[in-house]
Amino acid sequence: MKTQVVVIGGGPAGMCAALSASKTGAKVVLVERDEVLGGILNQCIHNGFGLHYFHEELTGPEFAHRFRIMVEADKNIKVLTNTLVTKIEDKKVQIMGKNGFEEIEAQAVVLAMGCRERTAGNISLCGTRPMGIVTAGVAQKMVNIDGKMIGKDIVILGSGDIGLIMARRLTLEGAKVHAVFEINSTSSGLRRNIMQCLEDFDIPLFFNTTIFEVVGKDRVEGVYYGQVDKNFQPIESTRKFLKCDTVVLSVGLIPEMYIAPDTITCKTTGGAIVNEFYQTDKPWLFCCGNILHVHDLVDNVALEAEQAGKFASLYALGKLPTQSKSLPVVAGEGVSYVLPYSVFEGQGKVEFKLRLKTKVVRKNLVAKCGANILGKKFVLAGVPGEMLKFEIEKNGASDKIVVEIE
Ligand SMILES: Cc1cc2nc3c(=O)[nH]c(=O)nc-3n(C[C@H](O)[C@H](O)[C@H](O)COP(=O)(O)OP(=O)(O)OC[C@H]3O[C@@H](n4cnc5c(N)ncnc54)[C@H](O)[C@@H]3O)c2cc1C
Repeated sequence: MKTQVVVIGGGPAGMCAALSASKTGAKVVLVERDEVLGGILNQCIHNGFGLHYFHEELTGPEFAHRFRIMVEADKNIKVLTNTLVTKIEDKKVQIMGKNGFEEIEAQAVVLAMGCRERTAGNISLCGTRPMGIVTAGVAQKMVNIDGKMIGKDIVILGSGDIGLIMARRLTLEGAKVHAVFEINSTSSGLRRNIMQCLEDFDIPLFFNTTIFEVVGKDRVEGVYYGQVDKNFQPIESTRKFLKCDTVVLSVGLIPEMYIAPDTITCKTTGGAIVNEFYQTDKPWLFCCGNILHVHDLVDNVALEAEQAGKFASLYALGKLPTQSKSLPVVAGEGVSYVLPYSVFEGQGKVEFKLRLKTKVVRKNLVAKCGANILGKKFVLAGVPGEMLKFEIEKNGASDKIVVEIE
């Protein structure tokens, strides 16, 4: 098969990238391993999606459906579902679908494969390995799609958004969520989720606390938990036992970069290093959505993917302008990462997306090139769990740009 742009992954990022690549003039093939488009949104049946993009409050499946019908109606997009991408090699995408192995030759490729969850093994969770230890995404799929309950007495490890949402979901389905343990001193989830999913249901959230050991032979019987010191080591004198039959893990997401293993990635996000066109170290390979960095709002995934799809399409059509010198963008004081990782020298606006290292109250975020201040933004209250956007004028910057809390 030959096409101009291949988009891998049919979640919100993939669908938006495909639509935008087609609108910009390219022929697109969109490949999705699942039988339907929509990605993780298909299992997120709660509301709160689309407030920024559609200015309406939608559920995950409703949000996905709006893009799915646009993709299906677009004659320039060929959709291959039930098709897994197994390898990418120099603009050649190897797929496995109903005809067995095939190859698609493209001018540009967009990676939009999302994330996978960190498991008990990934975090070296101590104790036995009985039935009843599940990741939050698997719990979400079992309850929302398969209609199966995962347990009655639940403990949640990690306060990421999926864990918070599952605390509410499991409570509504009749389980007792005894506690959420967070090893850090702040949550990596959205403040609105802490209020709406924990506080509204009187579910306690313990900071600087973790599970020391899982106990149980066939099924989880309980956990030993307690506080940790500043090096995240257990403080044994705080050890307590909590009886439960299920442990839900919400301990982070890992970008699905396995089919493009030689791409240069960022140590902090695990996603590819991209420039302001969402181009990786290989000019024909683009990246967007959760595979690039974990987003808190799917609306931002859609906006980012539209950009990546447009630039991939321009590249495939030979219309992406040749650029000037590349200026590195670096996360400075108080900032954990900034995207894009480089911008091109010249004039014009650029939008940075970043996360803070710690909670910040009434501080300025600045972007500077040497002594030249390129932009400033007042942050009334910022937390690591919420992505910040920061638009600046390049103003002829000619060297490294540092983005930091003043
Ligand atoms: C388990 C889980 C639950 C979540 N729950 C929520 C929530 O409740 N609320 C919320 O706001 N956000 C939630 N998120 C965040 C949510 O994933 C993002 O907001 C958004 O869905 C990211 O879009 P995406 O398109 O980048 O990734 P995804 O939605 O994950 O889509 C990626 C797609 O790529 C496909 N794919 C992956 N590898 C291949 C391959 N090799 N070949 C072909 N296809 C492939 C996958 O099947 C999937 O359809 C959740 C994330 C996860 C991982």
